[in-house]
Amino acid sequence: MPAQKKAVALISGGLDSLLAAKLMLEQGIHVEGINFYTGFCVEGHTHAIRKKDKAKPKRNNALWSAEQLGIKLHIIDIIEEYKDVLINPKHGYGANMNPCLDCKIFMVGKARQWMDENGFDFIITGEVIGQRPMSQRKDLLPVVVRESGADDRLLRPLCAKNLAVTLPEREGWVKRDNLLDFSGRNRKPQMALAKKFGFEDYATPAGGCCFLTDENYSRKLVDLWQARNKKDYEFDDIMLLKVGRHIRPAPHYKLIISREEGENKFLNGYRKQFSTIEIKSHNGPLTLVDGQLIEADFQQAAGIAARFSQGRDAAQVTVKFTLINGEEKTLTIPPIPAAEIKPEWYI
Ligand code: SF4
Repeated sequence: MPAQKKAVALISGGLDSLLAAKLMLEQGIHVEGINFYTGFCVEGHTHAIRKKDKAKPKRNNALWSAEQLGIKLHIIDIIEEYKDVLINPKHGYGANMNPCLDCKIFMVGKARQWMDENGFDFIITGEVIGQRPMSQRKDLLPVVVRESGADDRLLRPLCAKNLAVTLPEREGWVKRDNLLDFSGRNRKPQMALAKKFGFEDYATPAGGCCFLTDENYSRKLVDLWQARNKKDYEFDDIMLLKVGRHIRPAPHYKLIISREEGENKFLNGYRKQFSTIEIKSHNGPLTLVDGQLIEADFQQAAGIAARFSQGRDAAQVTVKFTLINGEEKTLTIPPIPAAEIKPEWYI
């Protein structure tokens, strides 16, 4: 009896990768999943920060997918390596700061490496032709095959019938007849297939699985790079872009103001890395100061923080600064009138 063939599946946590892996299991292939953690994934702990949406299950959808499939999932941290993909994408960005084509090439390339190191035979992804404008255009799918080094060991079960025959099909490891010909943005075929397989409650993220497709998030990332005069970031930077209200009243400093209790607790964890502003006379949010305040800024920063506290209509609010060097400063000031917070300050 021939040895069972092994496929490594890129599992994002979305429906398509779940279905692609399921189709392979149905064909008797041994499947294990890889989920790459870039730091920009919508998955993970940032889901759990905000107190609102408490009713929604806070789960890791990649793990959930693996559990549904009954397969092993390898979560691989690529935060450091991914920086170069995002900072210097050879194929450019999509509608926002999403370097989808370079990202796909990188991830499939990593999967190819993993495949070789672990004695697997081929790679599967949940891509569907024409579903996403940048990475899933028909003319671009061969670019991923070529530049990732996956060659014809990359199989896309959901749209394979629209593509050239791959090695697993040629060798008879999988039956091409049992693969699919999905294309375009219509999600109904996937939903019908999910129903057939009995998958319910799967994730349907609106903009994809990654914050880089989000306009607001992308704007904050670009602002960060402009303010620092270089395209670079640390893990904490990209986490903080997901949290709080970001206001930049001057090029040299930005305020990150929590919007609710969950965010307040999260920002609290950054007290040692940032100067902070607390509201002492009223209930109010914790604010982090990203940048260096000069003497003339304190009044303005205090007034803005006070505007977002319960003292917003009070004549005076007492505000305490704790600077990064441990120095403390307390001011009692009137909150800045809402109209004086310029729209362009909101990032
Ligand atoms: S949405 Fe994000 S994770 Fe997905 S391909 Fe694009 S950049 Fe990569």
